[in-house]
Amino acid sequence: MPLTMASKFLLTLAICRSIITVGLMMDPAELLNLRVEGQLSVEASDVETASADFGGMTRTKPLAVLHPASAEDIARLIRGAYETGNGLTVSARGHGHSINGQAQTRNGVVVEMSRMTRLGVKPSWRPRVNEKEQYVDVWGGELWIDVLKSSLEFGLAPKSWTDYLYLSVGGTLSNGGISGQAFNHGPQISNLHELDVVTGRGELLTCSEEQNQELFHAVLGGLGQFGIITRARISLEPAPQRVKWIRVLYSNFSAFTRDQEYLISLHAQPATQKFDYVEGFVIVDEGLINNWRSSFFSPRNPVKISSLGASGGVLYCLEVTKNYDESTADTVDQDVEGLLKKLDFIPASVFTTDIPYVDFLDRVHKAELKLRAKGLWDVPHPWLNLFVPKSRISDFDKGVFKGILGNKTSGPILIYPMNKNKWDGRTSVITPDEDVFYLVALLRSALDAGDETQTLEYLTNQNRRIIKFCEDAKISVKQYLPHYNTQQEWMDHFGDKWDLFEKRKLAYDPRRILATGQRIFVPNF
Ligand code: FAD
Repeated sequence: MPLTMASKFLLTLAICRSIITVGLMMDPAELLNLRVEGQLSVEASDVETASADFGGMTRTKPLAVLHPASAEDIARLIRGAYETGNGLTVSARGHGHSINGQAQTRNGVVVEMSRMTRLGVKPSWRPRVNEKEQYVDVWGGELWIDVLKSSLEFGLAPKSWTDYLYLSVGGTLSNGGISGQAFNHGPQISNLHELDVVTGRGELLTCSEEQNQELFHAVLGGLGQFGIITRARISLEPAPQRVKWIRVLYSNFSAFTRDQEYLISLHAQPATQKFDYVEGFVIVDEGLINNWRSSFFSPRNPVKISSLGASGGVLYCLEVTKNYDESTADTVDQDVEGLLKKLDFIPASVFTTDIPYVDFLDRVHKAELKLRAKGLWDVPHPWLNLFVPKSRISDFDKGVFKGILGNKTSGPILIYPMNKNKWDGRTSVITPDEDVFYLVALLRSALDAGDETQTLEYLTNQNRRIIKFCEDAKISVKQYLPHYNTQQEWMDHFGDKWDLFEKRKLAYDPRRILATGQRIFVPNF
């Protein structure tokens, strides 16, 4: 909604209230006079949406919401806040899939990056594919599902994914962006040519390995601290047509991790001699063998954990895929066989399916629709994502999967290793200091139902216990999609890289107005 006189009045009131609350020197006229091509809204529904996220545990109301029509709109807003020092903060919101309010802001404006909101699709925002050079230019708020659809029109597709495609490009690039392709291609932040970024000074800059290199590296995995990504140039490859999707089970954790590590060590081999995707998950209770990520195992032929001799009630599932098209259809089964032969899983536990590439990439969305239908999607999600160094993963297994979790998980638990050499150490993302590290993702949903082990309080406490266990056992985990409350915790998280992170903040967002929902820096007015 454009700002009418009434809403301007309300906005002025809201801003004045915030001045009184926080005692900042803010001139409300600065915001009200902002001329944008898009829309600056204080409508309750906009404010409500911008104050919530997937985590469902944090709510912070912004003063207003900007639906930008262009990168220049965002630059105008930030320039106004930076030059006047009026106390206004600015946070980009991709698709609001954060867990702990990372895209929210108090006393400020949330920039709704998703093009699905108010303004419809502007021609300048449509993904533009360069077929010859195999890249696509996309708006920073574009969802990965739409990047995929646009690229496929040219028979191309991005190389590195997240498990779920209804996330924004700017949001995942601000964290890393990982899935089972990361061992081979690196995270999404390793598969980019260049970015357009509006910095915390309100400058719109293009950055890449060749141009404004420091900003390029700062922004990647930079938790929104250095600028708002308005355009990304993403590397593409010829899209496969179909996927052989295979799951095998293990009762022995060492055999499971040995095989996962072996498979990711093949990253430099020719395509026929490695899988295209390597993930895995932990099964501690019968119910989750058909977890919400997919009903892969046939319901008519349920797999009983007990029948597979799981030690301590825990099973591990290795999940791999092999892409193929017409040119490789005749040899793909042979390639898969050759790779499976080298693995040490429970012999009778091979489950295979064969589906179109797009259906595989979009698999979690199907589960989302089912959960939505049951009212189980919009519930609190106390998720915890950890990078665990390879040298300590078996200690983690003993202490957490076979210890703290008991026999109930309340959601999928993913576990898969990645090669550190696929991550660029100059970016802002933090990973453990070992050549191979695991993602352990505890993706739990809290329910109010009678079972106390599924409540938000129980799961949040369990997360605390897991982190405490790692501290006590000196397992140097790093949080992925990190969440901390104090600057000291952030300093510990960044370790040696804290000084660089702080220096970059000073260079690109000296007033510390961007992405305050991450709680790393306090605004400086
Ligand atoms: P938001 O939550 O809107 O924003 C996240 C942060 O990025 C905020 O600080 C925000 O200010 C900042 N930001 C947003 N847009 C921009 C921009 N254009 N420029 C600069 N900063 C910006 N992650 C994985 O890596 N792999 C997965 O497989 C995966 N699966 C997921 C599945 C589900 C169901 C969910 C809910 C999340 C998953 N994630 C996964 C996590 C996801 O990558 C993060 O939530 C990420 O923040 C993207 O979400 P978003 O686009 O909604 O960003």
